[in-house]
Amino acid sequence: MSELTYPYEAPASQALFDRAAAVTPGGVNSPVRAFRAVGGTPRFMVSGTGPYLTDADGREYVDLVCSWGPMILGHAHPEVIAAVQDAVARGTSFGTPGEGEVALAEEMAARVAPLERVRLVSSGTEATMSAIRLARGFTRRTKVVKFAGCYHGHVDSLLAAAGSGVATFALPDTPGVTGAQAGDTIVLPYNDLDAVREAFRAHPGEIACVITEASPGNMGVVPPADGFNQGLKDICSEHGALYVSDEVMTGFRTSRAGWFGVDGVVPDLMTFGKVMGGGFPAAAFGGRADVMAHLAPAGPVYQAGTLSGNPVATAAGLAQLRLLDDAAYAKVDAVSKEIQGLVTDALAKEGVAHRLQTASNMFSVFFTDRPVRNYEDAKAQESFRYTAFFHSLLAHGVYLPPSSFESWFVSTAHDERAVQRIADALPAAARAAAEATA
Ligand SMILES: *Cc1c(COP(=O)(O)O)cnc(C)c1O
Repeated sequence: MSELTYPYEAPASQALFDRAAAVTPGGVNSPVRAFRAVGGTPRFMVSGTGPYLTDADGREYVDLVCSWGPMILGHAHPEVIAAVQDAVARGTSFGTPGEGEVALAEEMAARVAPLERVRLVSSGTEATMSAIRLARGFTRRTKVVKFAGCYHGHVDSLLAAAGSGVATFALPDTPGVTGAQAGDTIVLPYNDLDAVREAFRAHPGEIACVITEASPGNMGVVPPADGFNQGLKDICSEHGALYVSDEVMTGFRTSRAGWFGVDGVVPDLMTFGKVMGGGFPAAAFGGRADVMAHLAPAGPVYQAGTLSGNPVATAAGLAQLRLLDDAAYAKVDAVSKEIQGLVTDALAKEGVAHRLQTASNMFSVFFTDRPVRNYEDAKAQESFRYTAFFHSLLAHGVYLPPSSFESWFVSTAHDERAVQRIADALPAAARAAAEATA
């Protein structure tokens, strides 16, 4: 038996959770936060600084979620906070154009060559929803190809076989999405170009676009096989469809130019969120100028947003991107590698079958001995081991994603002290994973 007892007491979080459940469905505003996949009390956080979060009970955790990716400089980075304070003091929203949104779009376009034009929105969901609408408007076709286990936000037509929370809760589909919306979505296994070719053969002239996570992180980390993204691009080009690369998670995270900076495949359209908002609701889509020219008011495809290009959000995003130079990425990559090594060592020592998969500095652990190339493989893992592993780490002050279908994230702020805390916590967690039973 390990010394672990869980769910251990978190009385202040539990009291807040009870209050929350009385006013909000399930007590949370985004499902995975409720801890249902791992059980126990979700921790209500009250503050964050650098690599640490502090919960309502006053416990400090090394954060390996980083707000699901955005906090790549750690929490409350002084220069980001200063930019936000400066922007806030000048007013929070004008409903007019402003320089901040231009500067953010310029910074993004300067980093990511295929971004000839950029439109700012407020969430990754809005970005993918708008990109799909634009792809349909541009091609005058209706069908969309997506891959099982990829998550593109809670866009109706993209919730079929989606990753992230949809995977965590094993939802086959979701009520509220109409048959027509689902019927226009073709769901294929990830990393299978033959399936894509077959879909284009079966639906000639009907497919508007293929949307894929540039490197999936929403079924755990499952990188594209060599040539997969280029293959998608080529098949799309051949059939007059658009290749839409969803970089909401990987954008400005996996390199200074996101996953495009890693594999160099040129998409027709791209979507962004997370890191580019610096912890605020800012997201974007963009790409080919001739395609983006179809967007209102330049063209007929309507898209809008009251808070799009919000001055505080764009100030935060711009400050964060400007701090993300080559040295910053080298630092994130290095600390990610170090933690990856600690995790595999600890699990190997306890003889726990596992696969650590990476996409630049994104990584996750699957409790299986087989490579995970798609959603079917990901679902075959022994998730009950993750539950034990997760709770042991939580009890020892390390905060992992509360689901085995999510990427882990680190930041430039993860220093030696934070890494040491993880190293100290891992042996007991590996033991708990080894001893876990279904
Ligand atoms: C997080 C995410 C989204 C959705 O972004 P939200 O801001 O949560 O709406 C879309 N696509 C991918 C790849 C994501 O990781």
